[in-house]
Amino acid sequence: MITGDAAYIKKLNRSLILSQIIEYNKISRADLSKVTGLNKATISVQVSDLLEEQLLIEEQYEHNNLGRRPILLSLNRKAGYALGIDLDKDQILFTLSDLLGFPTHIEIVPLQTKDYNEIVDILVEYIIEIKKKCQGSTFGLIGVTVGIHGLVSKDEKILFFPHLKWRNKNIKSDLVNKADVTVFIENNANLTAFAENVFKHNKSSNLISISMHSGIGLGMMMNGEIHKGFHGYAGEIGHMIVVPDGNNCACGNQGCWELYASESSFFKQLEENYQRTNADYYDIHTWLKMGKPDVVEQMEQLIKYISIGLNNIINMYNPEIIVLNSELLRLSPNAITQIERRLNSNINHYSKLLISELGKQACVMGACALSIKKFLQISELNLQITMNRTL
Ligand SMILES: [Zn+2]
Repeated sequence: MITGDAAYIKKLNRSLILSQIIEYNKISRADLSKVTGLNKATISVQVSDLLEEQLLIEEQYEHNNLGRRPILLSLNRKAGYALGIDLDKDQILFTLSDLLGFPTHIEIVPLQTKDYNEIVDILVEYIIEIKKKCQGSTFGLIGVTVGIHGLVSKDEKILFFPHLKWRNKNIKSDLVNKADVTVFIENNANLTAFAENVFKHNKSSNLISISMHSGIGLGMMMNGEIHKGFHGYAGEIGHMIVVPDGNNCACGNQGCWELYASESSFFKQLEENYQRTNADYYDIHTWLKMGKPDVVEQMEQLIKYISIGLNNIINMYNPEIIVLNSELLRLSPNAITQIERRLNSNINHYSKLLISELGKQACVMGACALSIKKFLQISELNLQITMNRTL
């Protein structure tokens, strides 16, 4: 008979073993025993269970030397699939990944409506279609995580989605009822920070990620967990006031940071100040390379306001790693150097400031990773993926 304590320890050991197999990609039972500190008998029993569940596969390592060839264990990455959804104001980005977070299918659906029920129907239709496609695998579609560009409570309800003007929506319950799948709802900036931690900076116990696209959102990873605050709304840093009596913001205040330091504010000001309409990232990249004075000037303004906000955030959190998620900064030569030049207060302390390599994929990648983590019931998830980024 397994007592409560024994069952708990068994679960902890399973979590540790799975985490290490994923981190090492391929590992023998003997090495697994060394890295986990668990004895060989425990490893043997647990691995046998995981093989039976079809969560692991084993293969004989091929090498030219004579002697015994070790059997290596790895996660059966095709045993199930996770669906990540980034629900933004004018488009929905869907990404399906295998159990190691590798994207197997990506699709962008433009949004022509703001109506809640219509958008739920679009999501349900897509989820059901994907669910059917995954039916051939052992576990099928293991979970759907939706990233929301707004306030999401700890019990996964939408309190406010500013761009779509949704208030108090229980989208989790609606999706579960209509599509009959496991669903998680999370703020987009939180998923972005989670992705940075899982895919890029897994040794960091203190990471913040700032998404600077249509608005500005902050995600904080503390000891492998998303820091959410009391209700779940922490990180609404885009509405920190940086200009007293500044521009009017939809939140009801004036002079909010995202009105001066987000990508949408940059494009808006380029249009208002210099009549450069409908510019895209490619245009900005070209103009910056050509040294167009107005674009360079506007970029300097952006960097000035980014630095003001960053100064405040650094003083508040003393982060180890700060990841800025912005295509504009990625396209601007020496952006990090220029920002760091402005962070010259003796009070500022952090270890690394860098631009995200995951870019706009970060939210959906974090969404897939969250479903995977919950499905495997592991406390630590370190995945590796190489991004081939183009403009
Ligand atoms: Zn505001």
